[in-house]
Order: sequence, then structure tokens, then C-alpha cells
Amino acid sequence: MRPYILAENNWKTVKDSAYSVAVLPWGATEAHNYHLPYGTDILEAESVAAEAAKIAWEQGAKVIVLPVIPFGVNTGQFDVKLDMNMNPSTQLAVLRDVVEVLDRHGIHKLIILNSHGGNDFKTMIRELGLKFPNAFLCSCNWYQAIEQKAYFENKDDHAGEMETSVILHLRPDLVSLSQAGDGAAKKFKIKAIQEGWAWAERKWTQVTKDTGVGDPRKASAEKGEKYFKAVTQKVAQFFVEVATTRKDELYA
Ligand SMILES: [Zn+2]
Repeated sequence: MRPYILAENNWKTVKDSAYSVAVLPWGATEAHNYHLPYGTDILEAESVAAEAAKIAWEQGAKVIVLPVIPFGVNTGQFDVKLDMNMNPSTQLAVLRDVVEVLDRHGIHKLIILNSHGGNDFKTMIRELGLKFPNAFLCSCNWYQAIEQKAYFENKDDHAGEMETSVILHLRPDLVSLSQAGDGAAKKFKIKAIQEGWAWAERKWTQVTKDTGVGDPRKASAEKGEKYFKAVTQKVAQFFVEVATTRKDELYA
């Protein structure tokens, strides 16, 4: 029984515990090339949250990890079989209910730990911030916490070397690396979008044949383990900082 995982604890423990920050892991259920499971983003979100919370808890931060939300925004992958789209407006409704529960029970800090590039919580946090002025709401993308370059040869956007390595570390039984496609992907022709200051959604199946964006073939469990350790250390420090920084002393 891990004291920082809500789903593993009973009411006797929970009602007598004072938590200072809740962590909501948020994933997606979608194809990850031919070799990774649909639950890749769920596994990553849960595992990063649990390990980072463990490290933070051992440093005295009262963190409580909520169950993962398994569906992400997959509007661009509408034609990929059983990619389980949850629209942004639905996500806002889900998030509002979670924040309302936390608010009612005196937990005024929430970290959304995001695993999926199509999820974007910024506008939701702005809107909910107005409704819950006592709440400190923030989100982070764990896959951006540290530079991937130091750990992997090929850049990963989706189901590439990084994600494959991480899942090889966490759940090797779910990886079929021998059937992986090369993850080759097309880029937008429009210059402003290429440069990153203009944005449009990618229609996934026009961009990649195997649903991957990034070459997974140099992935290994060893690389995944090293990277996972570094990421969870960094994310844990973020948890500790949020837990210990007073809401009236956020700015320096
Ligand atoms: Zn993924």
C-alpha cells in the first residue's frame, strides 16, 4: 500500500491524512506504431506520477496521486481504429468536477501530469482559475522535463525511440519491437507552421503510415531506465516545490 496513491488507500487512512497537493495523471488511448500498446500514454502517466510521488513523499511532501484519466484528445486521429477521442470540452467538464471535489475537501493545489501531445490544459486552467480562486492549478508534460537528446539518438514525437525505451523498461511484455514500422513522418509544407510560430492540427494518417512519428528501432530498456530515473527525479522536485510553496508566496 503506497500512501501517496489514492486508489490503494482506505478511508480510515485518507480521512486522517492532510494532503497538500493532488496529482492527476492524464493519458490517452491510441495506436502507437505497430509495436507499442494503446495504453502507452496511460502507463507512462501512471508510472511517472507514482515514482515521482514516491520520491517527493520520502522528502516529506504530502502528495496524493489520483487515478489516471485514460482518454485524451485524438481529434486528429479520428480515422485510426479505436483511438478513443475525448473532446477538449469534455476534458474541461471532467477537470471541473475533479477540482470541485478537491476544493470541497481543502486540497487547493493540483498538478495535471500529462502524457499526450494532443492534450492541452492551459485554457482550461485559465477558465477554472476564475471559478476556483483559491486553487493553484498547473500542468506539466513529463516528456519535456529533460532534454531527450542526451539519452536517445532519434527524436521522438510519438511511439519513437524514447517512448519505446520507456515501455521496454516499464512493461517489456507489451512491446513487439520486431514488428515496429520506421516511424517516418511528413512535415507541413507551410513555412510558418514549420517554424513553429503558426500552428494547425496534423491529420495523422496523412502524416505517417504506421501511426508513429519518430524511429523506434534504436530503443532499449537500458536507455528507458536511465531516462525514466532522470525524469522522475526532476518531476519529483516539481511536486515538492508545488507542495511546499505557499500560495501567497508564489512570486519572487
Ligand atoms: Zn504516447
